[in-house]
Amino acid sequence: MTTEPAPIFDAVDWNLTSRQAELTARAHALATAKFAPRASTYDREAIFPTENFVDLHESGLLGICIPEDEGGLGADLKTYMLTAAEIGRCCGATALTFNMHVSSCLWTGDLLDQLDLDPAIHDAHKAARKVHYRRILDEGKIYAQPFSEGGAAAAGFKAFGTTALKVEGGWRVNGKKIFASLSGHANYYGALCTALLHEDDVHSRRNTMYLAIPADAEGVRVEGAWDPLGMRGTVSRTLIFEDVFVSEEEQLMPMGVYPSAARRWPHMFMTLTPAYMGIAQACYDFTVAYLRGEVPGTPPVKRRMYPTKQLAVAQMRVMLEQTKGLWFQAISEAKPDPTQDSLMRAWAAQHTVMENANELAQLAIRTCGGQSMLRSLPLERLYRDSRCGSLMLPWTAELCLDMMGKGALYKPGETDDD
Ligand SMILES: Cc1cc2nc3c(=O)[nH]c(=O)nc-3n(C[C@H](O)[C@H](O)[C@H](O)COP(=O)(O)OP(=O)(O)OC[C@H]3O[C@@H](n4cnc5c(N)ncnc54)[C@H](O)[C@@H]3O)c2cc1C
Repeated sequence: MTTEPAPIFDAVDWNLTSRQAELTARAHALATAKFAPRASTYDREAIFPTENFVDLHESGLLGICIPEDEGGLGADLKTYMLTAAEIGRCCGATALTFNMHVSSCLWTGDLLDQLDLDPAIHDAHKAARKVHYRRILDEGKIYAQPFSEGGAAAAGFKAFGTTALKVEGGWRVNGKKIFASLSGHANYYGALCTALLHEDDVHSRRNTMYLAIPADAEGVRVEGAWDPLGMRGTVSRTLIFEDVFVSEEEQLMPMGVYPSAARRWPHMFMTLTPAYMGIAQACYDFTVAYLRGEVPGTPPVKRRMYPTKQLAVAQMRVMLEQTKGLWFQAISEAKPDPTQDSLMRAWAAQHTVMENANELAQLAIRTCGGQSMLRSLPLERLYRDSRCGSLMLPWTAELCLDMMGKGALYKPGETDDD
């Protein structure tokens, strides 16, 4: 008899709100029934999970972070993260692309609403964002989040090379984005650009602008191949913007607000982790099921009686509990202007989830044995997908360590010249 997987975070044990319990259960049911069976095809063929996004729209989850008074489900960052982890457990590429889409709603919704913007600017923004929210809710439109350019901009050190020059009625966009998940499949590319009021304006991070570039606008091109190790269903190809006219109404945030939003809301960069939290849980679940002889499609051979397997599974459980505990605490603390301690925990949690997901995947393969890594089973995909988490800017595993080391040894503003 196989056991039905329990939720990653039990509603009672983890003291979830009724909203969190309801949305995680909704995602769990959908992902288990629909996304898990499709995951190997998206991975094998490196194709976008289009059918899953139709289901996400039908279930209401496409608008999970659209405020309730705008017709969405009104989830805050923590509620979204818990929900998305259930998707990552069944299909990492769906969870990661879902994150790119949802981020456009989080940045423009709950996060900005908590930033005490000038009331006039805030009111204008609230009126402007409606058009994006209606597209998502009424038409199932999908937004991508292409920030990376291959230079230091996505890590937060330089102005974006993609520019948006002010022209009558809107902006003229030129530039290139690499690793643009959902390329060729999103309806809008929520791109960060450097706004220029004149051709010869200085490129400054202060003038970062967040624009929804229609995928079918003239001058938008997707290029390059996509045949990576893991997260293959994300279809993260290169986007080229060549003299693309983007109208005023496509501005996702008031000009110049993004840099302070990113500085004041650093937990936002943790939104890349739920896909990998789900993968970590899936590796553990697979190992338990496999050792109990309960993985569908495999002979019912039990391997649980060997003390070495029991020890290995116990070690995996310790690592999983550490990962879940730290992650849950970090996402529970998410708010604007966190303390330095809270920020250090967020970096530690990001590092832990991304590295431990991969460690759990490799322990799972070693513990289950050779037959477990056959392509007919999900474990080898989990192993490959799990490797990608630590590479995601701006909080790669290396950059988290870098920031934590400096954060521990230097007080804000302190240098060695003091
Ligand atoms: C599956 C997948 C999907 C993705 N989807 C998206 C997406 O939708 N949108 C998007 O914007 N990006 C996306 N990315 C891109 C991702 O965030 C990185 O930009 C991308 O992996 C390129 O990174 P790189 O390692 O080549 O970067 P590089 O800039 O070459 O950095 C290499 C490494 O050097 C380190 N490093 C970089 N800068 C510094 C520094 N200043 N100080 C110290 N160390 C540094 C980092 O650890 C980094 O890993 C995706 C990546 C993957 C793997």
